Amino acid sequence: MDIIDRIGAVAARAGDRVAHRHLGESLSYAQLWSGSSALAARIAGELPDDGSPVVVYGHKESAMLVAFLGAVRAAHPYIPIDVSWPADRISSVIDESRARLVVAVRTLPSGVSTAATVLDGSGLAASTIPPGPTRQAHPVAPDDPYYVIYTSGSTGHPKGVQITSSALSNFVDWAVSLAEIRVLIPHRASDAPHGPQSSDGVSKRGSATAEPADVWLNQAPFSFDLSVMDLYCALATGATLHSIDAATVVSPRRLHDELASSDVSVWVSTPSFADLCLADPGFDASLLPRLGLFLFCGETLPTATAAALRERFPDAQVVNTYGPTESTVAVTSVVIGPEHLAAATLPVGRAKPGTTILIRDESGAALPANQPGEILIAGDTVSVGYLHRPDLTAGAFTLVDVDGVPTPAYRTGDLGHLDADGMLHFGGRLDGQIKLHGYRIELEDVENNLRRVTGVQQAAVLAVRNESGVVTHLHGFVQLASPPEGGPLAVATALKKELRAYVPDYMVPKLLTVVDRIPLTGNGKADRRALLARDT
Ligand code: AMP
Repeated sequence: MDIIDRIGAVAARAGDRVAHRHLGESLSYAQLWSGSSALAARIAGELPDDGSPVVVYGHKESAMLVAFLGAVRAAHPYIPIDVSWPADRISSVIDESRARLVVAVRTLPSGVSTAATVLDGSGLAASTIPPGPTRQAHPVAPDDPYYVIYTSGSTGHPKGVQITSSALSNFVDWAVSLAEIRVLIPHRASDAPHGPQSSDGVSKRGSATAEPADVWLNQAPFSFDLSVMDLYCALATGATLHSIDAATVVSPRRLHDELASSDVSVWVSTPSFADLCLADPGFDASLLPRLGLFLFCGETLPTATAAALRERFPDAQVVNTYGPTESTVAVTSVVIGPEHLAAATLPVGRAKPGTTILIRDESGAALPANQPGEILIAGDTVSVGYLHRPDLTAGAFTLVDVDGVPTPAYRTGDLGHLDADGMLHFGGRLDGQIKLHGYRIELEDVENNLRRVTGVQQAAVLAVRNESGVVTHLHGFVQLASPPEGGPLAVATALKKELRAYVPDYMVPKLLTVVDRIPLTGNGKADRRALLARDT
């Protein structure tokens, strides 16, 4: 059954169940279904049946879920854009994706310039649909894109990864099975702030154990593909998605209180977010008594983080998963046990069914076990390519032979090796892509946008790492066209302010240094090594 049918089945059998909670707001499956039906008809009335994407702008509001489903139930993939994006980047994604419709759950920033129709989506959770033409809608077909997620691109423009409905279903089937293998932590009805929910036979956990439905934590913004794991695993199984918004994350007190009232049973986040929570001594099983599973993805899971979680949550499993947006969130998994904690780095797991991991050398030849090379992912969750970018698609996607069958594959740009047991070990990047607090950033994306800042002639950006190899911040270096006016701090502040108009905050270097000249390598590129030597 595909995702939309699965959500429809929950709505039909257990419409009162809570699908989503966010800041005291709560959306039932019945509301999600009826709101998205009405929006789908409105979108079908607005757009030709051409599969063009619909941009959905907002943060963690329940209306976001209604808008996502409304678009796909009208056979249009959605592009989630978070409120952290500046106007310039929003405009360029609307433009480059050729979206003709934007559903604005929050008001678009005033600087967004677009010819697309903008529908007010702020009332969608209450089924308030903007007035206009409607038409009978039909949902996306299995081989059509279901969503398009934009990730940092080295040109300075993000690139849109298209994920089909069948790739999403294949991923969700597997990710849900990860959640089902855990040991259930007995539930006490009084623990749940919203009380037990009735079983409807949709969720295996619910029907077999008379436990209330799971509550999945949503930490990542919907514009980051990690959120696909919690969003669709929750909705496909009739569970509740509990969203934590950006303002709560930056306030330790609010975060603690929010978690205390969440009743979360499945945790999905970046390891960075878990580290942030671990800084709170009260973050343990007494805060989250029903938490039985941690699912991590998106960046290296430090051994110390996994060890601390196992200590503070002795009944919960810690699972490391690995994968890029281009292959639908994650394709490998491993339950971290005591046997892994002795090693300096943790493995990232074995391939899920339907996925083959290949390790290739520079010439593209397959490498045997234990030999490091580039990780290729082949299988049933690989993207159909970057939206309207056949050039980039041709460079990153290919077909490989898997047991005699030509199978879509993605060249990850990640280094790694498979051990003799088929366990994958991650060994860093082959290019300038980094992860900072879980966010994927191409250093060249930041550099190209720095070059757009008034007076900047040349720019180079370094990822500064701590002794464990984790990126702690970015350090930018700029060469100006004319000598700066003002002291270094004032100049850096002014440059950063202008850069914020082009890239989200997390891509703005913490440190910015003006240099007389950016050193160049023999082939004319910024010499990051020389700058690194200067930085340390
Ligand atoms: P994204 O598309 O944002 O999910 O980023 C994908 C990239 O994040 C991968 O290509 C890896 O470089 C990195 N990544 C994902 N999962 C892991 C993991 N478990 N350990 C280390 N790096 C990871």
